[in-house]
Amino acid sequence: MGKPNSLRLIDDDSVTEQSSPKSFPDFQRIFPNEEACRTYLYTARFPNGFACPYCNWTGKPHRFQNQTDMLRCRSCKRNTRLTGGTIMQKSKVPLNTWFWGAFLVTSLTPGMSALQFQKMLGIKTIRDGVQHATQASCCDGTART
Ligand SMILES: [Zn+2]
Repeated sequence: MGKPNSLRLIDDDSVTEQSSPKSFPDFQRIFPNEEACRTYLYTARFPNGFACPYCNWTGKPHRFQNQTDMLRCRSCKRNTRLTGGTIMQKSKVPLNTWFWGAFLVTSLTPGMSALQFQKMLGIKTIRDGVQHATQASCCDGTART
C-alpha cells in the first residue's frame, strides 16, 4: 500500500572546490562570513604556517577571542595583525566587504587570478612583505600598440 512518491529529485550540480571564486554563489560559498575571510587571510599570508615578523619564530601563535585578527608570538609576545600591511588594516569595514570588492574587480577583469585577488586586498606573505608596494598608481588608460 505505498503511496506514489511525488517528490522529485533535484539534480545538484556538484560544485568543485576552487581556491578563487568564479561567480557570486561561488563567492558566497567560499567566503560566507568573516571567519572564512580570516582563514583565507591566514593561509594567504602564512602559507607555510605562522612565522613571527619580529623574531622569525615559527609555530602556532596565541589567538584572542575578542580580537580575532590578532596573532601573538609565543616567543617574543609581540602581536601581529592578520590585516597588517593590507588595505584592510585601518578600516572598520568588515572583511567580507573588502573581499567582495576585490572579487568584483578580479572577476570582471579577464585574466585575473587568485594572485591578483590577493594583490587587490594588499595581501603579502611575510617573506614578500619586505618590499614596499609603492607602485600602486593606476594606469592613465593610454594604450600602446
Ligand atoms: Zn616573535
